[in-house]
Amino acid sequence: MVELRRECLWEHVTPGQAPPMALASTVKVDVCVIGGGITGLSAALNLLENGKSVAVLEAHKVGHGGSGRNVGLVNAGTWIKPDDVEATLGSKAGGRLNQVLGEAPAQVFATIDRLGIDCQARNDGTLHMAHNASGVADLQSRHDQWKRRGADVELLTGSKCQEYCGTDKISAALLDRRAGTINPMGYTTGLTEAVRRLGGRLFQNSPVIHLEKQGAAWLVKTAKGVVVADKVVISTGAYTEGDWSELQKNYFRGYYYQVASTPLVGTEADNVLRHGQGSWDTRLVLSSIRRDADGRLLLGSMGRTDNKPAWFIKSWADRIQTHYFPQLGKIEWEMHWTGCIDFTPDHLMRLFEPAPGVVAVTGYNGRGNTTGTVVGKALADYLIDDLPDNLPIPFSTMKPIHSAGLRSAFYEGGFSLYHAGQCLRVIL
Ligand SMILES: Cc1cc2nc3c(=O)[nH]c(=O)nc-3n(C[C@H](O)[C@H](O)[C@H](O)COP(=O)(O)OP(=O)(O)OC[C@H]3O[C@@H](n4cnc5c(N)ncnc54)[C@H](O)[C@@H]3O)c2cc1C
Repeated sequence: MVELRRECLWEHVTPGQAPPMALASTVKVDVCVIGGGITGLSAALNLLENGKSVAVLEAHKVGHGGSGRNVGLVNAGTWIKPDDVEATLGSKAGGRLNQVLGEAPAQVFATIDRLGIDCQARNDGTLHMAHNASGVADLQSRHDQWKRRGADVELLTGSKCQEYCGTDKISAALLDRRAGTINPMGYTTGLTEAVRRLGGRLFQNSPVIHLEKQGAAWLVKTAKGVVVADKVVISTGAYTEGDWSELQKNYFRGYYYQVASTPLVGTEADNVLRHGQGSWDTRLVLSSIRRDADGRLLLGSMGRTDNKPAWFIKSWADRIQTHYFPQLGKIEWEMHWTGCIDFTPDHLMRLFEPAPGVVAVTGYNGRGNTTGTVVGKALADYLIDDLPDNLPIPFSTMKPIHSAGLRSAFYEGGFSLYHAGQCLRVIL
């Protein structure tokens, strides 16, 4: 029997992660990027390609945050429907965000191609799967709204739906051909290598502890060194550490876990998501389902497993697998891991300019592979050409979220109860 261990699959399968070197001196650059995830690395890459000198400071190692441990869905758009985005932001700003994020998967796959990044990239689309009648209605309206905007989406039903999903428990699925899947740690590592090739200075194990203006320059301090920069990008997302910035007051934390099986072989396994899409269902507390390049089945859901016993995690994974894919019989679960997400009450991200020359972002709400790539580039462009109208969303003023800790605890309790209900067959 295989023992379920706490380890992130993507870290396990990604070779060539950068050796850590901490900042231990004074370094002068045009731009200091704080946070070595997809956003920061995308910003660094685009700044370097435009002739700027860049230092990236990462508290742990590159990919430590959501970028190294996510599901790997390369989604188009936000979690909320495009009409709702426009209702919240207004038609001009909302329309622009829908357009930028609708086209974002193409930018991710073009970046992967251009830089030759080896990250299990598949531009075969994603499947949003309806588990009941209200799920079908939800997907129908998502389909209609995106179709009106010219997106390449199709609502699969009947035998085509069953063929794509590999289960008869899903009555309709929204196939979004703009989207796809990656190994997110592979993508992050590939961006890191590109940054290094272009002369970017990368310092890991270097948490920023202080940020201050001195004359015309910004001093970005760690315990053992300082980066002196004209401009600063704060891209620490849900993993922001320390009290040197107000960023973490602008989101509340939620968690997401994944469980990976051992590699599966045979016809029954091949029929699960046989055309290579990553997927998630329409449940109140969703389940994500995907395969990796080695044939593993990856299941995920909201909440954390790092505080739960192995028997509970296995029982949940068995329950979801036997519900959707009973034909696989008993399978073995090999790894589980948890990550942290930055949520906002309206499910939309925020861009900030807390001081001239400093830009920051948060609130990806669990969609950062595409969003981080385009926002990183957009922030780099803004620091170079100072054209705020070209940003995907206008800057906001920082505004602390009320009772952020309480909200996180409330949701986590709800997720745990929901999963317990699934294990006990009360829900599903
Ligand atoms: C389990 C999980 C599943 C997800 N699934 C998907 C998905 O399928 N598709 C998708 O698009 N998105 C998904 N997301 C969201 C996505 O992973 C994130 O939105 C994205 O990775 C954010 O990238 P980032 O670069 O902004 O931040 P991160 O990748 O979180 O990077 C921030 C970095 O900043 C560093 N840092 C923090 N404080 C400091 C400091 N003081 N000094 C220096 N460095 C610091 C951290 O160590 C971290 O490495 C998921 C997230 C999780 C957790």
